[in-house]
Amino acid sequence: MTQREYEELRRRFPRFCGCDTCRGDVLVYALNRLSPHYVSTHQGEVLTELSLTSDQERAKLDVVLLEGLSKVGLAPRCGAKPVQLV
Ligand SMILES: [Zn+2]
Repeated sequence: MTQREYEELRRRFPRFCGCDTCRGDVLVYALNRLSPHYVSTHQGEVLTELSLTSDQERAKLDVVLLEGLSKVGLAPRCGAKPVQLV
């Protein structure tokens, strides 16, 4: 779920690097800020086990993903050129 949301959001920011490193950083950033309620206890399956049951939860995910994209875009660990997204 998170990864699909990420792909949808990323399409709106073509200047964002989006390599595996940056993608992972954004997803981890978002997951760390979501309530533990959403995160599976099964280690390693965290990224696919999110369940969003309401528009409110979905909106919250969009917000944290956008924050993650913005922060990672400003300082990509992969060495890509920093970009101001928002
Ligand atoms: Zn990158």
